[in-house]
Amino acid sequence: MAPILLTGGRIIDPGNNVDLVGDILIEDGQITRVATNIDATGAEIIDVTGRVVAPGLIDIHCHLRDPGFPEREDFKSGTRAAARGGFTTLIAMPNTSPVCDHPVVAEYVLARSKREGVVNVLPYGAITKGQQGQELAPYADLVAAGCVAFSDDGQPLMNAGLMRQALLMAKDINKFFAVHCEDRTITGEGVINEGEVSRCLGVKGIPYTSEAAMVARDILLAEETASRVHICHVGCARSVELIREGKKRGVAVTGEVIPHYLNTTEADMLTLEGRFKIKPPFGSQEDQDALKEGLVDGTLEVIATDHAPYTLAEKKRDFREAPFGLIGLETALGVVLTAMVHSGLLSLPAAIAKMTCNPARLLGLNKGTLGVGGDADIVVIDPDREWQVDVNENESKSRNCPQHGRWLKGRAVLTMVGGRIVMQDGKVC
Ligand SMILES: [Zn+2]
Repeated sequence: MAPILLTGGRIIDPGNNVDLVGDILIEDGQITRVATNIDATGAEIIDVTGRVVAPGLIDIHCHLRDPGFPEREDFKSGTRAAARGGFTTLIAMPNTSPVCDHPVVAEYVLARSKREGVVNVLPYGAITKGQQGQELAPYADLVAAGCVAFSDDGQPLMNAGLMRQALLMAKDINKFFAVHCEDRTITGEGVINEGEVSRCLGVKGIPYTSEAAMVARDILLAEETASRVHICHVGCARSVELIREGKKRGVAVTGEVIPHYLNTTEADMLTLEGRFKIKPPFGSQEDQDALKEGLVDGTLEVIATDHAPYTLAEKKRDFREAPFGLIGLETALGVVLTAMVHSGLLSLPAAIAKMTCNPARLLGLNKGTLGVGGDADIVVIDPDREWQVDVNENESKSRNCPQHGRWLKGRAVLTMVGGRIVMQDGKVC
């Protein structure tokens, strides 16, 4: 590979407190120099004047559906969607078929994604065998096979005693545990947020306590066992308050926001389209405001996509029957820049940190920065590009996206993984 010089861009590397206009030299897949002016004879020169050069985005919450559901997504389509969205590393949730609760499945995810994928993929291991909530998975074996974190996402761990044991184990192996907080006995048959809109439509609602009660439980368990816990897809104001209060008490609790919640509320559910059906359900305007406040004051340190592909046929079912989950890899950056940065709530470096160095630090990954000697995983962003989302242009196999038709400001224009350009001007190479 010939050396590449990205020249004239605004280099934002929050993990190293770097924000300068300058050049980055990439040689043999690594970043070898970052400076205001680099003379690199022989290098391929890419002029990125007026653009932002940032560490490649890291998604600590996505569903790539392989093994088991290739009609929804596979490593090729999922990682191409990631490249289009500016992501260079994905941590794949284990709710596949079979579930990633055995080293063989983790090895399969690593090998197959390497062969078919265009960005890095690392596997989550399951917290319980088969995500059945009955018996803990073999964590040490899964770590040895390459799992970097653990989650039963998609399924709540209803058994508090087992959750407590799992947190103690997580502490022993010092691994990141991401929990899907939902009390199914409260969710019941609910399909959207319980409130004005559910009452107006006459559909069964999901009370906010379905999420918040479990958030409270898991914070208490983390406090008592002195372990750490990460709350997936925080959706309601009460959960944000609980995490904020937990942090004040010194609990090692962290939380993530999914971009869709920053520009979508229960009011969008009036059409009862499957492409808005998600868990936790989109809440009220107050819930959305609380999530934004949580991002601003640092209560919520990560932005993740929860990219959850489903086929059109699955999503076109009767609204009550359609599965919960939406795709987001290709729109996440645009939504975050539009809802948080252009609105003046978050600085660009602060927003980038929540999608790069913050998730890397939580996972203990040696990624998420533009440090010299590190892998050249880089995204070039045009922060002012206005574009209308059209799911028909997706690299993902699925179309279940609430952003379809909306105008966003800001998008990735070049994605580089290990020094190789995998996306340029929206085209995945
Ligand atoms: Zn979940």
